Amino acid sequence: MPAGQTSAQAVGEGAYAQRVRGLGTTIFAEMSELARRTGAVNLGQGFPDTDGPPEVIAAAVQALHSGHNQYAPGPGVPALRAAIADHQRRHYGLELDPQREVVVTTGATEAVAAALLGLVDPGDEVVVLEPYYDSYVAGIQMAGGLRRPVTLRAPDFRLDIDELRAAVTPRTRLVLLNSPHNPTGTVLTRTELDAVAEVAVEHDLVVVTDEVYEHLTYDDVEHVPIATLPGMAERTVTISSAGKTFSFTGWKVGWATGPAHLVGAVLAAKQYLTFTSGAPLQPAVALALGLPDRVLVDVAVDLQRRRDLLCGGLSSLGLTVFVPAGTYFATTDVASLGYADGTAFCLDLPGRAGVVAIPQQVFYDDADAGRSLVRWAFCKRDDVLHEALDRLGRAFG
Ligand code: PMP
Ligand code: GLN
Repeated sequence: MPAGQTSAQAVGEGAYAQRVRGLGTTIFAEMSELARRTGAVNLGQGFPDTDGPPEVIAAAVQALHSGHNQYAPGPGVPALRAAIADHQRRHYGLELDPQREVVVTTGATEAVAAALLGLVDPGDEVVVLEPYYDSYVAGIQMAGGLRRPVTLRAPDFRLDIDELRAAVTPRTRLVLLNSPHNPTGTVLTRTELDAVAEVAVEHDLVVVTDEVYEHLTYDDVEHVPIATLPGMAERTVTISSAGKTFSFTGWKVGWATGPAHLVGAVLAAKQYLTFTSGAPLQPAVALALGLPDRVLVDVAVDLQRRRDLLCGGLSSLGLTVFVPAGTYFATTDVASLGYADGTAFCLDLPGRAGVVAIPQQVFYDDADAGRSLVRWAFCKRDDVLHEALDRLGRAFG
């Protein structure tokens, strides 16, 4: 297969409908397959290599053995909806009616897709931060919308509010936010969010905000949900997931919360995508959301240590490292290793070093802004991170 071409493009897309044409294969699947094929250490796709809390697993097993094996109610089992509402109140002071303002989804991915399908009409424009998470591009395209990226630029990846204002047109329907931001690790500040809120109110826009890394922030950086800002609760759909918070990415339990008139649109789409999400995992996630806050703090403290281990190691190899304030990804510029192109670097990397990472340019319309950027996941065991750094050291040291 030629470099840069995905397997879907290689087989041809003649039979594909417009709404999926050009989407190719997600880079995460491509790079995990490359790691599997080559035996490389996989610092590409973002998933932890250790399980979440054992009591949460025990609750799922218990649910499997106690009759939670038929369809859950469409919006989610009541105990989980109540736990999600309680989580939003406890952490952020947001009041939600679990009956009408919470919907459980098959991961945050389905919540994002259902929000876009439920709220965007063909021809509507969606303002989105770039680099963007790849499912946003697919979701906007499948809804018939048009994306209007606002670029977060190296070295600090802050939101330029003038660029945001310039991206809004009379066709703009919604702003799709992500904070803490994958892949840059930026956590939007209250000042940046205030500015987004001002634009949203001024132009009467809906905000859909993907906050799956809400509990993964470092160095005392605070995550502020935009729904908590004045005038925003009534125009915001907030999305999160048990995958990142509790290290159960394979469970695919996510949720969307917000005012009934917006969450209703998410549910309208969700009910015909999957009808309802996996029943036995939902009581277990309800239990997880009720665990003491210390559990979440411990996860973040441990990840911060691993962030420092990986970032320190990458930096000592001569890479330019942008240390993230949130998420479990670190961005680097590989130009300092003599690669002008991050995709070329990532395709060389398994053979040259036995490691896999993610080329970031695929998350940009403005390919130049991300050309030499490469993302590394640090949600891996210490021995895995050490092995990757040793291999990189032998290749580039
Ligand atoms: N949004 C972002 C920003 C992500 O990084 C991910 C990856 N977990 C998702 C959504 C998807 O979450 P889930 O696995 O719950 O569908
Ligand atoms: N969110 C994870 C990442 O950014 C992976 C999820 C996926 O593979 N779709 O790497």
